[in-house]
Amino acid sequence: ADYQENDIDVTDTTCEYCAVGCRFDVLTKDGEFLGTRPRPEKAPINGISTCVKGKFAHGYTHSDDRLTQPLVKEDGEFREASWDEALTRVAEGLGGVKEEYGPDGLGFVASSKATNEDNYAMQRFAREVIGTNNIDNCNRLCHSSTVSGLSSTFGFGAASVGMEALEETDCYLLTGSNTTEAHPVLATRIKQNVKDNDADLLVFDPRKTQIAEYADQYTQINAGYDNTWLNGLVRYILKNDLEDREFIEERTTGIEQVEESVEKFTPEFVEEHAGVPPEELVSAAETITEADSCVFGWTLGMTEHAKGTENIYAIANLALVTGHIGNPKSGVSPFRGQNNVQGGGGDMGPLPNNFPGYQPVTNEEHREKFAEAYGMDVEEMPDKEGYRLTDMFLTDDIHGMFIQGENSLVSEPNIAHARETIENLDFFAVQDIFLTETAELADVVLPATASLESNGTYTASTRHVQLVKRAVDPIGNAKPDWRITKALAAKFGYEWEYDHPSDIMDEINDLVPIYGGISHERLEALGDGEGLQWPVWDMDHPGTPYTYEEEFQTNDGLAHMHPADTVDPSETPDDDYPLVMTSGRVLYQYHTGTMTFRDEGVMSYSDKSFVEVHPETAEEYGIADEEVVELTSRHGKTEMLVQVTTRPNPGEVFVPMHYLEGGANNLTKEDPLDGAARTPEYKITDVQITGTEKE
Ligand code: SF4
Repeated sequence: ADYQENDIDVTDTTCEYCAVGCRFDVLTKDGEFLGTRPRPEKAPINGISTCVKGKFAHGYTHSDDRLTQPLVKEDGEFREASWDEALTRVAEGLGGVKEEYGPDGLGFVASSKATNEDNYAMQRFAREVIGTNNIDNCNRLCHSSTVSGLSSTFGFGAASVGMEALEETDCYLLTGSNTTEAHPVLATRIKQNVKDNDADLLVFDPRKTQIAEYADQYTQINAGYDNTWLNGLVRYILKNDLEDREFIEERTTGIEQVEESVEKFTPEFVEEHAGVPPEELVSAAETITEADSCVFGWTLGMTEHAKGTENIYAIANLALVTGHIGNPKSGVSPFRGQNNVQGGGGDMGPLPNNFPGYQPVTNEEHREKFAEAYGMDVEEMPDKEGYRLTDMFLTDDIHGMFIQGENSLVSEPNIAHARETIENLDFFAVQDIFLTETAELADVVLPATASLESNGTYTASTRHVQLVKRAVDPIGNAKPDWRITKALAAKFGYEWEYDHPSDIMDEINDLVPIYGGISHERLEALGDGEGLQWPVWDMDHPGTPYTYEEEFQTNDGLAHMHPADTVDPSETPDDDYPLVMTSGRVLYQYHTGTMTFRDEGVMSYSDKSFVEVHPETAEEYGIADEEVVELTSRHGKTEMLVQVTTRPNPGEVFVPMHYLEGGANNLTKEDPLDGAARTPEYKITDVQITGTEKE
């Protein structure tokens, strides 16, 4: 009532930052953003909680830096253009490359920050209008190893459990997850369960992150040896008859191969390579096997490796031998990074190997279904898998790119290499809300809407599909991504009959079985912001809070265990590069900072890159807090501020991934990549401290 009296408009929507999926009301007056406020009855995941980003970091929406008009480059300079002129330039640019090199000479990058509907439209454009499967997204840079590991083990490349397990399980094994900074509201839930219900919290991580302070057991591992200690746990459990034999026999295949492959991972071997003391391996094995339920949670510390998929196999094997999967409080839970990387980055099929809903592009039946829906002859539907995002930056076959809402210049491994690749393109277009470092290199830049200006849906880590609602009008001449894609398709002569994102979702629920019961109308009618957790097979299906109760989503209904016995990472320290650098996030920033760098409050806490150095390392190099050092790797060099702290292992350093200047990706490498997922090894880079000076 107070809001009404004061002419304040209230719009319930879903947070545009991480994939925990918090919801809140956005308060506006006369079109101006006032603030956000969580309303528990509209926020099934977060209740009354939001983190600093969800609460405060929306100022970027009305930043003076927003793109408000299309830009075209002339003689190396941008000038403003009409939508018609800009879209014509993009159509000519893409069309020209297609004519010269064929459809597969083009690469498309969709955005995990955009809605499901935006991403669906983008994959349709690549396949129907251009005729290529060269479409991918930033999922390739983070959790693709999770998707490949989980899908080939269990069926779905997603979390098996939802919030109930995350709030009520008896035991957590968290690894490679800086939960308190990357997924703050989720961390609050975990800490609450540990405090109120005495749940066991085990944290294995090379860096002593804040969540480790709440752990019953924190084990500091050596970076790059995740599957080593996980295999060691599996071995110890099997050798000591602690496994759930009935579960293994009834619901899995592959135990013999796994048993054989873990044989060498003795406690001594694990200690030597992974740095895990035998007694900590034993106590973790006992805690997990004695618990009635357990959640295995991880983030990019597990996945951003050249053997990322093996790391996921190893943690999946642990869940299976202990029988901790397929019930309401036990299962696997990858914590996804960007707000919609689960939905927009995976479910919606902006993927080189899958149509929406993880339906393979090489399957004739699926090709026929999508071709028919798009009014194409099946022969016109591309039938071979396209380039993965990371491979688009390695091959000479890509001559033109269209990037939607991704700052690849900063997010790709090895910034210098990414710049060279983009600069060598014949045509390059970017669709974004800011003139990012990547957009500056484009021939044409198209202004898109920000989250608070958009309608559609996002899908959280827990497979919750939730509504996103426009709270403020689009700035200037910015347009929703799906509308831009529709207009671009029209330039090629394709008329799509979408007037609202709900029309796109109606098409999705026709074509994508796991979204078969999801429509905007149904989500709205549920009220109370409830959302639906896929799979939702039809309009009467209630959704699936946890998966695999009866069977796994595989051809035989069983979980397929895979060996995961590679030991060393792709590079190991030597005299020239004696330190191992890992990278990650900080609480106040989001990815490449396109949004958070434009928020004064956030920037006052973390405006610069830094390197965390253990006191022993600092002493060895004679460096102290606040000094500027130069870090050199085999792939690049950059300067940053020193923070001396006991968080990293001695011999390891940590650098955040958000920054162009002084950021980790000046030092990381573009290959080798994970064999199955093609994810880069961001987490392991050998470095040397090559110079210091006082700031
Ligand atoms: Fe948004 Fe994630 Fe923070 Fe929730 S935890 S408010 S979803 S950034």
